[in-house]
Amino acid sequence: MGEGTAFAHHQSVKAPPVPSLELFRVWYPAVERRSSYPNQVDIMSPIRIDAHQHFWNLAKVDYPWLGPEAGPLYRTFEPAELVPQLKAAGIDKTVLVQSANNTEDTISMLTQAEDYDWIGAVVGWVPLLDPDRAGRLLERYTRHPKFRGVRHLIHNEPDPDWLIQPRVVEGLKVLASFGVPFDVVAVYPDHLKHVPAVMERVPGLTVIIDHLAKPPIKHKQMGGWADQMAAAARYPGVYAKVSGLNTAADWNAWTVDDLKPYIDFAVAAFGADRLMFGSDWPVCTLAGDYARVWQATIAALHGYSQAEVDAVFGETARRVYRI
Ligand SMILES: [Zn+2]
Repeated sequence: MGEGTAFAHHQSVKAPPVPSLELFRVWYPAVERRSSYPNQVDIMSPIRIDAHQHFWNLAKVDYPWLGPEAGPLYRTFEPAELVPQLKAAGIDKTVLVQSANNTEDTISMLTQAEDYDWIGAVVGWVPLLDPDRAGRLLERYTRHPKFRGVRHLIHNEPDPDWLIQPRVVEGLKVLASFGVPFDVVAVYPDHLKHVPAVMERVPGLTVIIDHLAKPPIKHKQMGGWADQMAAAARYPGVYAKVSGLNTAADWNAWTVDDLKPYIDFAVAAFGADRLMFGSDWPVCTLAGDYARVWQATIAALHGYSQAEVDAVFGETARRVYRI
């Protein structure tokens, strides 16, 4: 009776959001065919990579942080909208980064990466608090030719020390054992300070600090942020993204001059071969647009050598995310 009732209503009930692992079997044959395509990157011309962008689809994936209060970001953003902006900037490849701590977001991104050649790498999610399950998921994900990293929205966790709790450290060790890099959404000062502790506890891990850890650009301060960035940069396995800076500045009045001291500091601390440009689209649209962020980053790097510029705008990301 109960079963029959459920069946009768079946067509009007939305499909459950959690994807079945059966989906993996659908991916692999298609993926293996694609992985035999020739590498279309011409090594003689510098590759241009946007190492940090997002898509979200409100109908398919649950994003607990994304509600009406997110204003213009509270809608679906999909690849077709980004294409003309990438073309205008001359971007060859992007790194598509997770926006939700769930498997359906990761599956959605990997599916998009199969459909769009210019998505060069996907940074997905695994449950670091459950190292065994993280390992089982990584066994599957790492067979996908574009799965290249993991991130967790640590800045949305109520515990600012979430990253260094023992279970998560165990999870990070599993990541390291798969050779999968970890993107840290380090928001200064709560999370950036933990990067050296993570590197001490998980020596083989590659860590990428997103958005230069959101320096206090709006308040035009350097001190504590600079100290923490320098401490993180002492570990050779730590990289950083020159991204998300416009939204750390005064949204309505930022200029290149506001961003440049932080970018200069990062180049001095890390070297260009450990830095990578990212647009943080569509978040960047809160304080400008794709073209403005791209142009401002080019302007901020004016005067650096061509090799340094090429590193930040593509070579570092190509190496770290194996694009
Ligand atoms: Zn982002």
